[in-house]
Amino acid sequence: MNDGEVIHVDGYYPGAGQKPPDINEVIESIPSDAIIANFFSCHWHACPHIQPTGRDQIKCPKTGKTWKEVYTASQNHVAQLESLGCRVVTCWKHEYVKLLVTVPRAQEIHENI
Ligand SMILES: [Zn+2]
Repeated sequence: MNDGEVIHVDGYYPGAGQKPPDINEVIESIPSDAIIANFFSCHWHACPHIQPTGRDQIKCPKTGKTWKEVYTASQNHVAQLESLGCRVVTCWKHEYVKLLVTVPRAQEIHENI
């Protein structure tokens, strides 16, 4: 990995029709001083903001697993990355959307991504 290089550490792969990379191989390639920008979609990662109650019984429609199971798996992934020595900065989608509405510069940056 080179300085400034962007890699996906959550298994997501934007290449349509292509096989995603082996997440374990990706994680092994992360240097311990990496700063990881972690973006959590509220539904795919079971944000407590979306489903605050009944999380250990109600299933998340996106995954078919309980909200608690999905959230725990997401938090375990962050802990795995942190255990490598990386700094993980997490932003939930609802926080990002609020930022876009309340901070004009954020909207400007978003439009240029
Ligand atoms: Zn959320």
